[in-house]
Amino acid sequence: MSRQPLFLPMSLQEGENRGIRQFDIILITGDAYVDHPSFGTALIGRVLWDAGFSVGIIAQPQVKSPEDFEALKAPRLFFGISSGNVDSMVDNYTPNLRRRSNDVYSPGGIPKRPDRATIVYTNRVHELFPDIPVVIGGIEASLRRFAHYDYWQDRVRQSILADAPADLLVFGMGERQMVEIAERLAAGEPVSTLCDIRGTSYTMEVAEWRKSPPKGIVEIPGFAEVARDKTAYARAFALHYHEQDPVRGRAVAQPHPKTVVIQNPPARPLTTEELDRIYELPFARRAHPSYTQVIPALEPVQFSVTSHRGCFGACSFCALTHHQGRIIQSRSSDSIIREVNRMTKMPAFRGVIQDVGGPTANMYCLSCNQWETSGACVDKRCSPACKNLSTSHKEQCRLLTRIRGISGVRHIFIGSGIRYDLALADDSGYLEMISNYHISGHLKVAPEHISQKVTRIMNKPGREIFDRFCAQFETLQQGKKKRQYLLPYFMSGHPGCTISDMVALAVYIRDHSLYTEQVQDFTPTPMSVSSCMYYTGLNPFTLEPVHVPRGQEKKIQRALMQYRDPKNHGLVTEGLRIAGREDLIGSGKQCLVTGDGKRSGRFAK
Ligand code: SF4
Repeated sequence: MSRQPLFLPMSLQEGENRGIRQFDIILITGDAYVDHPSFGTALIGRVLWDAGFSVGIIAQPQVKSPEDFEALKAPRLFFGISSGNVDSMVDNYTPNLRRRSNDVYSPGGIPKRPDRATIVYTNRVHELFPDIPVVIGGIEASLRRFAHYDYWQDRVRQSILADAPADLLVFGMGERQMVEIAERLAAGEPVSTLCDIRGTSYTMEVAEWRKSPPKGIVEIPGFAEVARDKTAYARAFALHYHEQDPVRGRAVAQPHPKTVVIQNPPARPLTTEELDRIYELPFARRAHPSYTQVIPALEPVQFSVTSHRGCFGACSFCALTHHQGRIIQSRSSDSIIREVNRMTKMPAFRGVIQDVGGPTANMYCLSCNQWETSGACVDKRCSPACKNLSTSHKEQCRLLTRIRGISGVRHIFIGSGIRYDLALADDSGYLEMISNYHISGHLKVAPEHISQKVTRIMNKPGREIFDRFCAQFETLQQGKKKRQYLLPYFMSGHPGCTISDMVALAVYIRDHSLYTEQVQDFTPTPMSVSSCMYYTGLNPFTLEPVHVPRGQEKKIQRALMQYRDPKNHGLVTEGLRIAGREDLIGSGKQCLVTGDGKRSGRFAK
């Protein structure tokens, strides 16, 4: 294929301008096409182009008529379909199941993504192009690859591969898999034989599976069993969770009524050189010129830099372990410097790097000496307490220092959240450095809760560590002309959390004068440990019962976090009574609400 275009083609004409009569691959996405590395379709499209394939993009097709799907004609090799950067149900509905009126991944914020976009698009493509292979991927397909609890229908759904007529599912970060699929199809292999690619799932006839199941596969309880038995669901979840390691993970099979879904072991982590090459592809960092309206999701990330992938934090409510994995893959600082230098030459660049980070900002270049040989531990959680984990942030400090030295760069901010237990374990002055140079006024941290029982279930560091971090941050503020603040994220309604736990959190917020506009009410998104707990009421790893707040209790928990808001005072009063904390109702200094249903005067402004 010729050298990379300024934008990947979205029309036959753009293809023809580059001498392309038929695209090798057509990517269909529920997002607008923004040529930026944090938009999955652009990333995969550029990587495939880099590997020598021509790629056309169909963004946000109208599903009612065939025209949009036929706009680029049939591809030579395959269609790649994704819902976009987000799960369509998460994107289309609020946690209270109300339909959202905007979509930041769409021009003008106007929603265009159908519910269950991957299935809808795949059905349409299969109808129109029955002989062309279809590969599904992206977050929606990836995190629905096994039978899973669906919050929006409040039931267990089949694997998306059992619902969508796709030939292959790519899970996790998909660059390696997509290139291998393209190369093997281009070499003449039929798609039905591509059953051995790491980081992909495929289906097998039930009869064939029963007759001769492939060797070395872990069979987990099937759809019929997990749909009727919550303990079986929890066991199935724990079994596939433990196999999501690229070094030691084995293939996993889950029988469904009409098919057997088989997940191959996860793709091997990308090397530093591979990551460098990907992130240095010539992304325009702009939306395709055919758009006349702004795509809101671009603005906050336009001049941000991905320094690494993966997160070993493994918070229970986050499904990243099932997507990017626990092993950190970092870019070289030279590559990041080259990328920033390129950014500084872009006309829209105003001297501000909005973020340098990954899923967690301060995991760049951190590593465990066992990852390469044995993968991440099955039975242990990574934390600074583990002697095998290197926690020095010196490479991060060096990197930030180098970026500060680039001509044209005025500010570099840390926009991703930081893991404060790691920052405390650091010995190279990271916190002081970011406090001096890289915080725009607020530093995001996510303690999520202060009750030890809840943080343990969430797999987050406990309150003492957060308190130590706050104290250290406060010390760093001394002598500063402009004060900086911590922006803590707390969560209500998480499995394991009771009304008493939320009252304790409200008291903590009161005593520490914390700002809590950012309320997160737990939503059971596909494939997280917490979603499994929400559905089953069990800890999948121990099968112990877990309290699950629902309905009115969930509303009370959320209200307690924002007890200062007058509209919450009825619920807050109800919660305080349930928790036996009438001492917090009234006119005393310690009270959260007054007895007449108004807020306590202490916080009145
Ligand atoms: S040895 Fe420690 S840091 Fe390494 S994977 Fe195991 S728990 Fe994590």
